[in-house]
Amino acid sequence: MVITGGSKGIGRACCLRFAKEGARIVFVHCDPDEIAAHETLGVLEKAGVEAKARKLDISSFSAVEEFFQEVLREFHRVDVLVNNAGITRDALLMRMSEDQWDQALLVNLKGVFNCTKAAIRSMVKERRGRIINISSVVGQIGNIGQSNYAASKAGIIGFTKSVARELAGRGITVNAVAPGFINTEMTERLPEKVKETFLAQIPMGRIGDPEEVAETVYWLASIGANYLTGQVIHVNGGLYM
Ligand code: NAP
Repeated sequence: MVITGGSKGIGRACCLRFAKEGARIVFVHCDPDEIAAHETLGVLEKAGVEAKARKLDISSFSAVEEFFQEVLREFHRVDVLVNNAGITRDALLMRMSEDQWDQALLVNLKGVFNCTKAAIRSMVKERRGRIINISSVVGQIGNIGQSNYAASKAGIIGFTKSVARELAGRGITVNAVAPGFINTEMTERLPEKVKETFLAQIPMGRIGDPEEVAETVYWLASIGANYLTGQVIHVNGGLYM
């Protein structure tokens, strides 16, 4: 399986969940000092699975093309693609710069386009494949200061449903997971007041763990989700129903 943003947070939890089943894992990250990636690789190697990490900016169309060619040369096919990498560039619209808008859309939405387009060639040939895109509850309900992020995550849902229709006849399923408020570096950065406001709106009364999202991602790649495509699965403690 190939997963973007596998070095930390939800992506790392997904790597570990797939590792439990003995999957061969290639994950992508973007941090030049590679500390988190090395840590994740270490845990995967300890678990005895074949894993590779690659530093790659998923917003670059040509770099993503080249990366998937390498993956195919080495592994011959891609069974599962998890489009997980994402960033926030928060600001109120009144103050949002063009660069903040472009960055969020480039990584979160164009990155999904780049990776999916490059991965489906081998899936179509094999007539099987699973694509799981990580959206967000914010793509459904919006959030103050996140118009760029919300637009990118809502875009992922439209993309998922369209590509699911295009590829359903080829044995490939395409689904999205929309996490709510999950305990990772991305949410650690939020001001306490924002965290408290979110928490107050979660019927289950707690923040989610990355492992709880990873379980759903794994299930979507498993035989249990054979007849499921174009869906958005909400993992949010009831924050959005
Ligand atoms: P995180 O801890 O910040 O991890 C993000 C991952 O994406 C890192 O591995 C990062 O790699 C990678 N990444 C960022 N930009 C990249 C790029 N241009 N190219 C390749 N990799 C890149 O985030 P997270 O909280 O686990 O979030 C994972 C996904 O879930 C994101 O799509 C996020 O929007 C979504 N989500 C999260 C929450 C939440 O509450 N945490 C809620 C809803 C949705 P480096 O660190 O090496 O750059």
